[in-house]
Amino acid sequence: MADTLNLIQPDPATSQHEAKETEIGSVFVSNYPPYSFWRADAVQAAHDALQAPPRPAYPLGLYLHIPFCRKRCKFCYFRVYTDKNSKDIQRYLDALAQEVEIYSALPAVQNRPLKFVYFGGGTPSYISAMHLKAVAERLQAAIPWSTAEEVTFECEPGTLSEPKLETIREIGVTRLSLGIENFSDYILEENGRAHLSEEIYRSLPWIKALQFDQLNIDLIAGMVGETWENWRDCVQRTIECDPDSVTIYQMELPFNTVYSQDYLHGQNGLHFADWELKRDWHAYAFEQLAHAGYEFSSAYTMVKRSKHSQFVYRNSVWQGCDMLGTGVASFSHMSGVHFQNAASWNDYLSQLEAQKLPLTRAFVTNEKERLTREMILQLKLGAINTSYFKQKFNANIISEFGEVFSALRQQGMLDYNQREVRLTEKGLLRVDLLLHQFYEPKYRNARYT
Ligand code: SF4
Repeated sequence: MADTLNLIQPDPATSQHEAKETEIGSVFVSNYPPYSFWRADAVQAAHDALQAPPRPAYPLGLYLHIPFCRKRCKFCYFRVYTDKNSKDIQRYLDALAQEVEIYSALPAVQNRPLKFVYFGGGTPSYISAMHLKAVAERLQAAIPWSTAEEVTFECEPGTLSEPKLETIREIGVTRLSLGIENFSDYILEENGRAHLSEEIYRSLPWIKALQFDQLNIDLIAGMVGETWENWRDCVQRTIECDPDSVTIYQMELPFNTVYSQDYLHGQNGLHFADWELKRDWHAYAFEQLAHAGYEFSSAYTMVKRSKHSQFVYRNSVWQGCDMLGTGVASFSHMSGVHFQNAASWNDYLSQLEAQKLPLTRAFVTNEKERLTREMILQLKLGAINTSYFKQKFNANIISEFGEVFSALRQQGMLDYNQREVRLTEKGLLRVDLLLHQFYEPKYRNARYT
């Protein structure tokens, strides 16, 4: 399961109203302003930002996109490839390393310590231990991550072996994120997942023995075929796996997924749970996790109360850090400029093979846009302090966004005073549907592709 923070492209056209049925389109908000406003003619501004010294006190993170999967899940809309051989993968990893090497010599990056590293996808665990070891060595020679606070690695259970996990541990991974999504073999197969429950249970003892700092389990509420009985069982089994954190996404139907295409072509027999039911499942899971000793960390994640694991990548991105998003189609942010890499295999590789950064579109944010971006992303944490925005942006968010806060309070989505804004449970379970209301009017109703 690819990480949603960096790559999901929301479609407010479908999130303007609170649809009951699950319709085609994305809901999850990962960035602001919307991607459809990023332009090729702004790419020079990204190069300029990279050629200038960084803003003082802003942390830097590195995202590495590994776009390979054993099989395409029927709900997946990420840039992934299921047909690449070992030679293709080697070529891709060479380009990825080349990209990091180019960045490492630029004034905005040179000698800056990394706060976090994130291997996302796709399925980073798809690549062999040999490939992984070699690319990690080359990447670390360019930008070391031994002092990073967190190194996350996304895994698909069926791609794991004991030696591969040892390599993942050896390269310095601290946070292992396991894309389980569901424990029912029927549901996993129906939704096109590559793994089955047997592979989950095979990999767990290896993972535990290696004592990663943090094990996260991803689940999806509302996969095709889901029932209350199965979901209860899934949540129970998740608790029995004893992870440090559990992340729950509500199933969506973005354009260009197998399911969306089937749905648009009127294929009968497909049933998608409606939003209310998915929220009920989400709420049930959070409730059970709370009984089992977990506490709330964001609208999607619960963490063990006794350990309270941090999620440095999420928190840093939501606080507007600089991030080099490397790999095909990845998104970056540097000194107030958003930019994205070429989204096609050939464009990405050929540009790097010609020693050029494969930037394809960019957006120069202004102060108000940066404030709005941080505020809407941090609202997903469930509560925000007004003093943070006063200090960083010299802005009073209560007066700046007063009308929206007031309307949302009337709808029972949140409450606020001059010190903080706090979402209610109702607001939290549908937070992504609320965020577009904070957008400047010119950014509403935009397609996000
Ligand atoms: S594992 Fe499935 S959902 Fe995740 S990136 Fe691969 S195909 Fe997409």
